[in-house]
Amino acid sequence: MSTTDCLFCRIAGGEIPADIVEQDELVVCFRDVSPKAPTHVLLIPREHIRSAAELHAENAELLGRLFDMAARVARTEGVAERGFRLVTNAGPAAGQSVDHLHFHLLGGRSLGWPPG
Ligand code: AMP
Repeated sequence: MSTTDCLFCRIAGGEIPADIVEQDELVVCFRDVSPKAPTHVLLIPREHIRSAAELHAENAELLGRLFDMAARVARTEGVAERGFRLVTNAGPAAGQSVDHLHFHLLGGRSLGWPPG
């Protein structure tokens, strides 16, 4: 898929509207359109990476920035203290439905384990 056909590239580029929570030059955070918890924010790199299966050591800085932002969003959303989950689905067996790396930040309720 080219980046022009990618839904999350288009959200990151401002072509498709989303409820943006925070963004910088590397990472964009926006509310999931179909929330699975009171807080459900997606964190994506602006760069088109298909999934966690395509991550390499050279993505270390990007991931550090993304996790830094995740912790900040957890604090501003008020879920950092009680607890939250940061999860990424990679590939069809995991239920990945958008082929652009994204992390779900879920919180605001008790989260079962293991996930289904
Ligand atoms: P996954 O199933 O792990 O690939 O996660 C994709 C997520 O993207 C799902 O939770 C969807 O609800 C969410 N999603 C799909 N389209 C949009 C959109 N236009 N804006 C915000 N979230 C979306």
